[in-house]
Amino acid sequence: MEKLIVTAALTGGLHGKEANEALPEQPDEIIEDALLCGEAGAAIVHLHARDEEGRGVGDPELFARINEGIRERSDLVIQNTTGGTGIPVEKRLLALDAKPEMASLNMGTVVFFIPGDDSLSEIPFVNLRSEIELFARAMLERGIKPELEVYNPSMFGEVENLMSKGLITEPCYVNMVMNVGGMGGYPGTASNLVHMVEHLPPGAIFNVSGVGKAQLRLNMMSMAMGGHVRVGLEDSVYYWRGELAEGNAQLVARAVRLAKELGRDVATPDEARAILGLR
Ligand code: ZN
Repeated sequence: MEKLIVTAALTGGLHGKEANEALPEQPDEIIEDALLCGEAGAAIVHLHARDEEGRGVGDPELFARINEGIRERSDLVIQNTTGGTGIPVEKRLLALDAKPEMASLNMGTVVFFIPGDDSLSEIPFVNLRSEIELFARAMLERGIKPELEVYNPSMFGEVENLMSKGLITEPCYVNMVMNVGGMGGYPGTASNLVHMVEHLPPGAIFNVSGVGKAQLRLNMMSMAMGGHVRVGLEDSVYYWRGELAEGNAQLVARAVRLAKELGRDVATPDEARAILGLR
């Protein structure tokens, strides 16, 4: 099997330190955390920028600061998000101005459910086909490799649409973001993962992100199936049920140990570049 690419999703844009104090929010914290994850075996860091209050923002200067800080001290592959609920598309596009090697590209609309004390918040994350094409074109023009974020099988229709229009280059790289709590989320079961893998276009490479308690289970299944894995506090703030993770690097280190036990070597950043066809 191909070497395993471990991506660390450090911060995200939904929950923050209120969920786990170890979640890095500010640029210097994110940089230091990225370096620790690199030492633990991550090849790619998936990044969001947050303002001083910890809210996710599409701020090109913040992204540039974070990206440069990581680049100066490591050879990690940098992947900026173009997601972010409540951030207008024009702002989300600005994450590309920091010239990351990769960026996330969400392949459809979901509605996140955030359980509150006595009510449920519904947070829409809208991605229209025209917007997906806009993001894909902007990445193609800048030589940025998209990671296609697919939340359920119906979103493979958008992958096919981009391929048919020549808006993505090979190899097609899909991240299956499973177990998102909300409308459009797909439960992180074994049979659902198999079903998702069956929808992949020929020659595609896949990564799996499991939200919440599905992270560990889906990571292990993906390793055994020849896929890659994403771990990190963006997707789950826990190490075990009821036990908060000490930090992102702890989650990376566990994925690396599991891969070794399964006989799967872990890719360095340059080996990940070769697998994904990055320039
Ligand atoms: Zn993200």
